Amino acid sequence: MLTISWTEESGWAAPQIKPYGPLSLMPTASVLHYATECFEGMKAYRGVDGKVRLFRPERNAARFRRSAERIALPSFEEGEFLRCLERFVGYEAPKWLGKERGDDGVYKEKMVYLRPSMIATQAAIGVQKPKEALMFVVMVCFPDLARTKVQPTLGNGETNGVRQEEVTKSGNAMMTGRGMKLLASNADQIRAFPNGWGWAKVGANYGPTLLAQGEARRRGYEQVLWLFGQDNVISEAGGSNVFVLWDTPEGRRELITAPLDDGIILEGVTRDSVLRLVRSRVPGVDVVERTFSMDQVVKASEEGRLIEAFACGTAFFVCPIQEVHFRGKDVYWPLASTTGDGNEGKELSMKVKTWLGDIMYGREEHEWSVVIEEE
Ligand SMILES: *Cc1c(COP(=O)(O)O)cnc(C)c1O
Repeated sequence: MLTISWTEESGWAAPQIKPYGPLSLMPTASVLHYATECFEGMKAYRGVDGKVRLFRPERNAARFRRSAERIALPSFEEGEFLRCLERFVGYEAPKWLGKERGDDGVYKEKMVYLRPSMIATQAAIGVQKPKEALMFVVMVCFPDLARTKVQPTLGNGETNGVRQEEVTKSGNAMMTGRGMKLLASNADQIRAFPNGWGWAKVGANYGPTLLAQGEARRRGYEQVLWLFGQDNVISEAGGSNVFVLWDTPEGRRELITAPLDDGIILEGVTRDSVLRLVRSRVPGVDVVERTFSMDQVVKASEEGRLIEAFACGTAFFVCPIQEVHFRGKDVYWPLASTTGDGNEGKELSMKVKTWLGDIMYGREEHEWSVVIEEE
């Protein structure tokens, strides 16, 4: 792991790379009482040309700094953070993203998840702006959920080499070829509210959501679809941003996602990338960031105007949504069709996934990719 400590008196100390292991904290450390913690989620990719890349890391750095500042953690130079991160990834990549060629001579695609975090370490029970903090980055290997081939139906036993139990346990829709099933939040469960801090990637936004997430899982849904307000405005799903492709009542085809201006949603790097790619590469679709509600989705469904929906974020990449359970009603997207080629309701999300994957794994040269020099 990479660790960098900070004190108000001396600022940031020299960064260190050391084996993954426990941190030593006083029981009175600020983070343990006042949720003075923020984090990031990003990935490093081994591409088809054997090079290691980060995807738009400057956006994670900027968001990391904004999140830290929101909860009185120390600020930092984004460029300096990126230099540390790139050194860390360059040093560790040969271990976790080994260079292997397939039978075709092409390097095997691999990825590893990076979790930059910052916590206030100061031992002081008083509620105050912390004077000591620790930034750290760990690497986490997890199965490549998003790139597993889409299967037409649930198999029994094996799915792409992943045991069925694990598929069920992880509850990840990408592995099974169906879309995600979401459970809409109840009116008494609000993830974030206007002018709050839903836009910051701070731990305080996640702990209070776990009860609803557990309930959703228990009832067979992958994620909670977070609604807000009397109109049941759609904000996001779990740790992912949400897009809906529909025809408007006036007959325009629209890709819609929640706007950033009221600060309710987390501004995903994937969200921004999807917006830019669809705006520049998909003619005939209006791409809009505008408030929209579950009530409108239900109406569109009744009028046959729903085309696709997907959730997107670094962890689960781009994942089609098949169903939303909304207070006694089920809204379906056409994913479950057994008559077509198995791609209905996924065309746009599959395109976007391919484009993003091509950039991440170096099949397409793109300014969003940052090649990391390995040591
Ligand atoms: C991290 C996160 C996202 C996705 O952001 P990416 O930068 O695309 O990974 C979306 N919503 C929430 C609540 C998140 O925490």
